[in-house]
Amino acid sequence: MDHFTYRSGALHAEGVPLDAIAEAVGTPFYCYSTATLRRHFEVVRDAFAGLDALVCFALKANSNLAVVRTLGELGAGADVVSEGELRRALAAGIPAERIVFSGVGKTRRELEFAVDTGILQINVESEPELEALNEVARARGKRVRIAVRVNPDVDANTHEKITTGRKENKFGIEWTRAHAVIRRASAMPGIEVTGVAVHIGSQLTDIAPFRDAFLRVRDLVVMLRTDGVALTRIDLGGGLGIPYADETPPSPAQYAAVVRETLGDLGLKMVLEPGRLLVGNAGILVTRVIYVKEGATRTFVIVDAAMNDLMRPALYDAHHAVVTVRQPDPGVEPIHADIVGPVCETGDTFARRRPLPPVESGDLLVLRTAGAYGATMASTYNSRLLVPEVMVNNDTFSVVRARPTYEEMLAMERLPEWMEAAPKGR
Ligand SMILES: *Cc1c(COP(=O)(O)O)cnc(C)c1O
Repeated sequence: MDHFTYRSGALHAEGVPLDAIAEAVGTPFYCYSTATLRRHFEVVRDAFAGLDALVCFALKANSNLAVVRTLGELGAGADVVSEGELRRALAAGIPAERIVFSGVGKTRRELEFAVDTGILQINVESEPELEALNEVARARGKRVRIAVRVNPDVDANTHEKITTGRKENKFGIEWTRAHAVIRRASAMPGIEVTGVAVHIGSQLTDIAPFRDAFLRVRDLVVMLRTDGVALTRIDLGGGLGIPYADETPPSPAQYAAVVRETLGDLGLKMVLEPGRLLVGNAGILVTRVIYVKEGATRTFVIVDAAMNDLMRPALYDAHHAVVTVRQPDPGVEPIHADIVGPVCETGDTFARRRPLPPVESGDLLVLRTAGAYGATMASTYNSRLLVPEVMVNNDTFSVVRARPTYEEMLAMERLPEWMEAAPKGR
């Protein structure tokens, strides 16, 4: 459910017509709905009512400060995967004691920053990382809380590039070694093992892999208890899918039921790390049609957004629903078009042979469900400016990330001293 709906013939974000935003900030732009963010957070929180669960929003899905702040004010913590994301979470006002740090390659500098900040827990993904962290903590005379991320060797049945819980994936400590590693970690002076963590992939549309992974976590926790290692927390990762096309992912309530059934009786605190689920359909990408081109065998709708702005179709063959901002007349005969961007790559295609109301140059289109892994994955490929991000709240909107200028884009670069300065161009 979201708050992007047609009212008096035009698509609105909550109470704001999208063509008014396009007029004010130019296209393309991302637009986020506060009411939708709020609703998604509340659905997840309510599904876990009665369990001692902290919802740590995975910043990599959408790290805009206004988005993180909105969720933080509702009580969310943060799951971060880099020093940059940790700094963002802090800058958005997330308290350190609600932040967990995941990731397979945290550098020593990043570990030092996390230890100095005093966050809730660091999820350790390998033995070398464990040793490095122990040294960092000891050098500071601290004991740092960790969870050991285990790789449960289950197949998430999702796109190969976002499956993370099979033994051939780079993530976590092999299931069969986890017990020994946790015992070893428990004996380290700089380490306090508080829990185990799993995250088996993203955009899961099937509940079974979650159940398999959680049962493995359960076995591990019980075995460790028998050996006198008492954990206080389990971190269940994120990964619950959302509908982009005709998928029917489990609801947060169904997901929570599996958590209750597999882990509910252990008396442990829980950390959840949803990303996509909270922000995915709280965001859209608004773009303008530049040209409609009749090719030899198909029609191309060429828009001013491109793969550098929204990478998911090029990277994962992902589907995004495309709608027009102007409400189509009922019964209008659709065209079938390839919706493409201006970038010089055939992969710069948002949709193929997509049914669409007839459109012309200047019309506004919306790529729906673009709030997760949209703006965060954007680049300046083809020297295109990063697109602005706008947040709507009821009848008002605010630009929460400005479009940079071309001067700003060029400002980071320098010619080496052995070259003559370029003539001042326009
Ligand atoms: C990516 C990631 C998440 C969030 O995944 P979603 O599919 O967006 O819910 C959570 N935890 C970890 C460790 C991740 O890498």
